[in-house]
Amino acid sequence: MKPFAYARPADVAEAVRTVAGDPGAVFLGGGTNLVDHLKLGVARPDLVVDVRRLTARTIVDLDDGGLRIGAAVTNAELAADRRVRERYPVLAQALLSGATGQLRNQATTGGNPLQRTRCAYFQDVTTPCNKREPGSGCTAVGGSTRNHAILGTPGALPDPTAAETCIATHPSDMAVALAALDALVHVQGPAGERLVPFPELHRLPGDDPSRDTVLAHGELITAIDLPPLPAGARSAYRKVRDRASYAFALVSVAAVVPRDGEVRLALGGVAHRPWRARRAEELLRGAVLTEHAVRAAMEAELAAAQPQPGVDGGNGFKITLVQRTVVATLRDLAPEA
Ligand SMILES: Cc1cc2nc3c(=O)[nH]c(=O)nc-3n(C[C@H](O)[C@H](O)[C@H](O)COP(=O)(O)OP(=O)(O)OC[C@H]3O[C@@H](n4cnc5c(N)ncnc54)[C@H](O)[C@@H]3O)c2cc1C
Ligand code: SF4
Repeated sequence: MKPFAYARPADVAEAVRTVAGDPGAVFLGGGTNLVDHLKLGVARPDLVVDVRRLTARTIVDLDDGGLRIGAAVTNAELAADRRVRERYPVLAQALLSGATGQLRNQATTGGNPLQRTRCAYFQDVTTPCNKREPGSGCTAVGGSTRNHAILGTPGALPDPTAAETCIATHPSDMAVALAALDALVHVQGPAGERLVPFPELHRLPGDDPSRDTVLAHGELITAIDLPPLPAGARSAYRKVRDRASYAFALVSVAAVVPRDGEVRLALGGVAHRPWRARRAEELLRGAVLTEHAVRAAMEAELAAAQPQPGVDGGNGFKITLVQRTVVATLRDLAPEA
């Protein structure tokens, strides 16, 4: 492991100033992702700035009926909170489907959505990877693609040598639920505070796959707000994976079904960011959620999917899998349809 300095600033302002002023500095939350990357050589910072004790570790009621979650709240605390379990079951279920009890005790609300891809080549410093080393190429294209993206990719056969190629997926379960809940992210940066709507926090690779989010270097997540859901809204998270536990999603679905029919759907395991299924939502607006209607909406959503061939058989199976997972999730939430 490359040696690095460790700092524990007195407050958020000092932490932000320190990281923003040093291109080689990074924030440390629970460390369950970052410390692995330090050991693997994927992250090679000069300075690690511990923010775990700087942001709130509380979940407070907002006047509008929503909740504000401090960035230091652990995944275990959040999943166990009675208000979250009753009002936002999609979030509690997503959290409990991720990692293990020990990891959830350590992982934070600020760190979880910013965990990095589980693409095996990203974690293997001996292979070219545009996300880890911009401009080096993408080993996943033509390699093992079972866990990779089908939406928001540069094409069915992207150029593995091009600097913009990346077909990685975002790994966080919690983030898929937060995208469906239209959560709001409080961000503190050198220029002050700003609010980022959660569905806009993560990026597609575009021309710079090394950037996972719209956050600038030195911007710190201090809290996440959950807006209230309409009365009577139901929500759920369904995750499909290779093992029953301790595995990342092949595909996952976070769904919110209010009484008025304004369905919200976010998909995990299919793109570089949690994928809000806007086309399907549009087609399902006001519709009775029959299996036929949901299937048709998902066919429209997935019309632009670009399955990737691969030495492991590729990831074309995700198209059918995600469609069936959405059908099953909505059947549970709206059995009367
Ligand atoms: C074996 C294993 C299995 C796992 N399985 C799953 C799974 O099934 N589903 C799932 O969703 N996750 C899974 N995880 C990932 C786990 O959920 C994440 O590692 C964890 O949520 C990251 O949170 P953290 O606080 O430890 O982040 P850290 O490791 O501390 O940080 C992660 C990143 O966020 C940055 N950061 C941290 N806090 C902030 C902040 N407040 N503002 C700005 N930047 C910040 C850090 O600089 C770093 O880049 C698994 C992890 C392991 C090791
Ligand atoms: S898919 Fe992205 S993360 Fe994986 S090897 Fe290619 S560039 Fe790297």
